[in-house]
Amino acid sequence: MAELTPVLGSWVHMQADNSISCCICGCGELTAVGRHYVRCSSCGHETNAGAPESVSITNERLDRAGLSRTTALDRFKRRVLKRCVADSSFLLDVGSGSGRFLSRNRDMFKGAAGIEIDPASVAFSREVLSLLVAGDISELPAEVRISVATFWHSLEHMGIGTADRVLREITVRGAPTLRVVVSVPAADSRLFRLFGEHAAYYDPATHAHQFTAASLDLLMSRHRLARCRCFHSFAYGWFGWLQSMLNSITGRHNRLYMRIKRNANRSERMGAGDVGDILLACLLLPAAALVGLLDRGMRGSGGVLTACYAPAHGESASEESTT
Ligand SMILES: [Zn+2]
Repeated sequence: MAELTPVLGSWVHMQADNSISCCICGCGELTAVGRHYVRCSSCGHETNAGAPESVSITNERLDRAGLSRTTALDRFKRRVLKRCVADSSFLLDVGSGSGRFLSRNRDMFKGAAGIEIDPASVAFSREVLSLLVAGDISELPAEVRISVATFWHSLEHMGIGTADRVLREITVRGAPTLRVVVSVPAADSRLFRLFGEHAAYYDPATHAHQFTAASLDLLMSRHRLARCRCFHSFAYGWFGWLQSMLNSITGRHNRLYMRIKRNANRSERMGAGDVGDILLACLLLPAAALVGLLDRGMRGSGGVLTACYAPAHGESASEESTT
């Protein structure tokens, strides 16, 4: 009987004979890729040898003023939600962060809640945005029946035990027309294959997994969920290409992203490196935008996989959507 091993993190199964296997498909052929991950030769899933079970991060600026500005990503997420929703009872956002997605889309539903473990984000969501946010899915009111659950770049942060527990709870509490939307970095995308550890969405400090389309489908199938749609995001696409090019040239990982998105250096003044990044970004922007546009017609090209899953009733039709 397989059990989890702490030796390689919680994501690789240790078999009775001390061999290790993929936590998604059980394949025993695992190969080290780079410094942080091992890749399954069957489903392509990559597991992090050193990440903790779950990682708490403040991934967004926690200020109300910033929420009023609509970004391309906001528009993309709302379009995906509109395409996927089959009934408007209850929206659950797993890894709700600042509450930005929830607050901008709860108008489409009779009820909505977030699951978040970062204390600062929980406090902001509750006190400033008046959102219902729980620290764990088990804390949701018993009467909640979920119609849409979303994982916007949160599933890759969870240990597989946590992911399975949350997905199990979602399907138990799910309405008959349940939809589960997942957006994760795609290890089998051209962006990852080309840039490797320089890829914009490569983050071994917080990503327990790097999914492939096959490994994500397999994980969801354990919960009798089948992929019914895939979506392409130009916003994720062009920015991913731009930041990956910058990373390769400068050797500094995601400095521009950290400056803009997480505002990690807000106490610091703009330095020569920041100015250099911005100038270089301006030069690279046309090429990144062009490749981002070409992504639209090429399955698996962009660095992010966004898919919608529905309860499996024998069908597994998958439709590619460009939004
Ligand atoms: Zn596998």
